[in-house]
Order: sequence, then structure tokens, then C-alpha cells
Amino acid sequence: MEIIQSIESMQRRSCSLKRSGKRIGMVPTMGYFHEGHLSLMRLARSKADIVVVSNFVNPTQFAPTEDLDKYPRNFERDCHKAETIPVDIMFAPRNEDMYPEDFRTYVEVGEWGKKLCGLSRPAHFRGVTTIVLKLFNIVQPDIAVFGWKDAQQFLILCRMVKDMNLPIEMIGGDIVREPDGLAMSSRNKYLTPEERKDAVILSRSLKEAREMIERGAMEADVLKERIRKMVNGAQYGRLDYVEIVSRETLEPLSRVQKGESLIALAAYFGEARLIDNIRY
Ligand code: AMP
Repeated sequence: MEIIQSIESMQRRSCSLKRSGKRIGMVPTMGYFHEGHLSLMRLARSKADIVVVSNFVNPTQFAPTEDLDKYPRNFERDCHKAETIPVDIMFAPRNEDMYPEDFRTYVEVGEWGKKLCGLSRPAHFRGVTTIVLKLFNIVQPDIAVFGWKDAQQFLILCRMVKDMNLPIEMIGGDIVREPDGLAMSSRNKYLTPEERKDAVILSRSLKEAREMIERGAMEADVLKERIRKMVNGAQYGRLDYVEIVSRETLEPLSRVQKGESLIALAAYFGEARLIDNIRY
């Protein structure tokens, strides 16, 4: 696996790959790989000739009060894991190259960035769209793979690709979970053993909601109340939000619509803010 740090080298490498007719598949990440990241790399591997993974903890998507400084990092271990896929190129740019002092331009997200996670993280998605557009311009992928774990992020990025006419096929990979159901996340590392045990309530409450829907309970208020009770009933859990929205518009639904709905939640367990969702 080739490791590229310089933006210019990456751009030159991508240009020459594309000139020789290769299809580039890209997986943007912030590193500290787990099976969720690796599943996206495998998906990219199955669809492209060359797989590029970016590994960059993006400061502009963290608020000053958030966990940028302690976000877990382990570049060497990431390289070993990526090599098993195999990934062709790991692009790991330097912060000062991505955001030099005179950096000024951001990609504005609009209304969608204010919903769901945007309520408690108002500048987050603007940081995400900005870094992903930069990465797309550097790597020039034909295909980009993101996880449904971050459903709002995926929908906003699909919107950006459409609105900005980027010639990139967007692919969403399913959420990879721990054996007990907890969605894998780099932030699970923040959990104490007690919080870790408790955090399983997130996926359990979503599973319960799915079962209620399958028994005919389509009312959003009823489903949200059940999830709220379950998560807040856990000793260490504090629900940030639960919403049932259309995957098309991100607008709240009063009733679950089969094939169109996203049930998304975020909750604090100690220091960790965790997210999870199901599509129905
Ligand atoms: P991150 O490094 O957390 O920014 O995540 C990089 C990519 O991996 C994003 O597209 C995430 O949605 C995706 N991802 C993170 N966790 C999971 C998971 N448990 N299952 C599937 N994809 C995931």
C-alpha cells in the first residue's frame, strides 16, 4: 500500500490513474479503523480498480467544545488493517496543508445541516461538506463509499454531489455492529465498561421500534416515546434526540412510511455522544 501525504502528489497520482482508464473508489475516514470502516473499503474494492482511503481527523467539523484533541488515532495500526483489504493508497494529508492560515472558503449546507445532529452540532455538517469536497477534488474518485451509520452525513453529501454536479457515484454501506448490537464507532473507546454495557440500549430501542412497526404501530410519536423511555431508562443514557424523518426531505414524518423512513437518534453515555439509526 502506498502512503501519500502531499496534496499535489495525490492529485498527480489520481490524474495519471484516470488517464490510464482506472476507476477510483474512495473511502473518506478519520482513521482509528474498526470493522465498519473495513466493510466500506471492501465495498469500494468490489466496485473500483483502485481504492483510495483518506485518513484525516478534520478539525472544521468539531466545535471548540468537542473532542478533536482526544479523538483516537493510531496510524500504524490503520495501515496494517487497510493492507488486509487490500487498499491501494492511503491519503493522509497534514492539517497545515489542508487548512493553511489563509483558508477562507466553506461549503454551506443550508436547512439540512440544522436538523437532527445539526441541532446540537450547528457547524458540524459545514465542516463535513467542506472537507469532503476538498478530498473529492484531490482524489477525483469515480465512486465514493460512506456508512449509513452517519445517515444524515450520507444524505447531505449525496445532496452536495447532486447540487454541485460532481461526477461521483455515491454508495452507502450498512451499519456494522458489535455482537450485542452496538453500532461500531471510534467513539465507543470513550465508554467505561459500565457505560459500554448500557449503550446497547440504543440498538435495542431501534430494534424494538422496528418490531412495533412490524406489528402495525406506525405513529411516530408512539415509537419515539418508546425509544425515549428505553434510552433514558438506562442508568448512564441521556437521549439527545430521536426523530423519524423522510430520507428524501429530512422532514419529520407523523407516520412511518415504508421504504422512505429514517429513525435516527443520538445519546450521551458519559463523555461519549453516540448515534444510531435504522431505515424502514
Ligand atoms: P469516521 O472515521 O467515523 O469519520 O467514519 C468514516 C466512514 O465510516 C463514514 O462514512 C462512516 O459513516 C463510516 N462508518 C463509521 N462507523 C461505521 C459502522 N459501524 N458501520 C458502517 N460504516 C461506518
